Order: sequence, then C-alpha cells, then structure tokens
Amino acid sequence: MEVRLASQAAPGRAANEDYGFALPGFVGVLDGVSVPAGLSTGCVHGPAWYVRRLATHLAHAYARNTDAALTDLLANAIELVNNDHGGQCDLSHPGTPASTVSLLRQTGERIDYLVLCDSPLVVDQGEKVTVLTDARFEAAVAEMRAEALTGQSAIGSADHAERLLQVAIKRQERTNQPDGYWISAANPQAAHEAIIGSLALRGDERVRRAALLTDGASCAVEDFELFDWRGLLDLLTTDGPDTLISRVRQAELSDRDGYARPRYKRHDDATAALCLFEREPQP
Ligand SMILES: [Zn+2]
Repeated sequence: MEVRLASQAAPGRAANEDYGFALPGFVGVLDGVSVPAGLSTGCVHGPAWYVRRLATHLAHAYARNTDAALTDLLANAIELVNNDHGGQCDLSHPGTPASTVSLLRQTGERIDYLVLCDSPLVVDQGEKVTVLTDARFEAAVAEMRAEALTGQSAIGSADHAERLLQVAIKRQERTNQPDGYWISAANPQAAHEAIIGSLALRGDERVRRAALLTDGASCAVEDFELFDWRGLLDLLTTDGPDTLISRVRQAELSDRDGYARPRYKRHDDATAALCLFEREPQP
C-alpha cells in the first residue's frame, strides 16, 4: 500500500498532541487528550509526550512481530509507556495522559484494523464508503458536550474556559469505565476493548483506499460539513492530507468564536493518513 500522511499542530500551539506514523504495511494515528488549564493529571509528561511514546512502542513492537494481534501490540505498548513515566507520576489518576488510537495493517490479501475512541477509519469498498468508529465515546460524551457547548460563549472567553474545565472533569469520570468509554491511557485492558476487524483486498468488496483521521481532520465532514466521506477521500487522493487540513483551518477561521459551530477549541491538532491499495494501471 501507498501511504500519504500529514499531522499539524493547531495554529498558535507549540506542541502537536496528535501523532501519525507509517511503516511499510502498518499505519497509525493517535490523538492525545488535551488538558485544560487548571486540571491536574498526576503526570509531569503530558499528552504530546504520551502519543510519541505510545507510537514509538507500537512501531517497535510491530517491527519485531508483524503478525501479532493489534490488540496485543497496543496492550504491550500501553504497559511500556507506563514504565516510561519512570515512577514519577500517579498512573491511577483519572487525568493520566490518554490518547485515541487507530491502526491499520496490511497482511497479504486483507487489512486488519483497530479503532479505539473517536479517531475514525474511513474505508472505500467501491460501491460503499464505511466509517468505522467507536460509538461508545460519542454516547458517553454527547450529553455533556451539548450542555457545555451552547454557542452562547466565545471560544477564548472566561465562560468558555470554565465550561471546558467542567466538561473535562466530567469526562475523566467516564474514562476507561465499563459504563463510559475506552481510550488508551495507563490501563492495558483498554486495548482489548477496541473495535477490531479485517477487510478483504480481493473481490468486489475489496478495500480500494482507507483514511485514518483524528477528529481535527474528520471535523471537515462531521462538524463543518465541507463534503461527505467519499468527498473527503477524493480530496485526500487528489490533493493530499495537507490540503484537507488547510480546508479545515479555513473553516475554523470562518467561525473564529464558535457561535455557528460550537466547539472546544478554535483550532484543533489535525492528522490524516490516506492508504491506497489500488493504482490506476499505467499506460
Ligand atoms: Zn508521566
């Protein structure tokens, strides 16, 4: 497969709390959970460190054993990041660094995928485009999000910041709980709660292309409604992931205060990886 990948920090922010990587046959995107000012986490390292460490361990583990179950790769990577905290941090703290994880691996005539939390995988199988996502996150946070984001307070205002803090506290209570949602943090059990599956690369319903997206990129469809999912795949294919992110930046700037599209941040870190499994025959 051919992979095209871009990851950009939100404009004005020094650290990118997203991460994307591509090895031959193995692709991943991660979206670290941002911590609003005033919220404790029990960790001295932070989300940007967490996503880098987790991605590094995933890549190393895959290189050692390309056939391992994706859930095992992730569970082991979580354990190894726990060690990387070096005993300095309280890993039982509900605000311990956390990240979504979406992985795709090509194995012979199929792809295997793993989706944990809200970084969707969009798959083109010819007649149909399918979005593979983890519905538990949306179910757990939809109500608190709707309550916090009413479009009445401008992004950056004191009221908006307070709403952000309150929703982050509520979200922590639901993190990695059976009645909440699962995300990669310090508990390796989360890996076994991920959405996993395999799809064929042969036959009529073969996967032609797939995109792994953090919500800073998938918002092009889900929030800003710039195009549908097939349109997003088409833009990625013709113009590339950087262009998709540029389109999102324009949309974010067209609603700077978030009155029209209520959201947590003016800009979000954004990552998109397009995987192409078929090329047009060359003349
Ligand atoms: Zn730490």
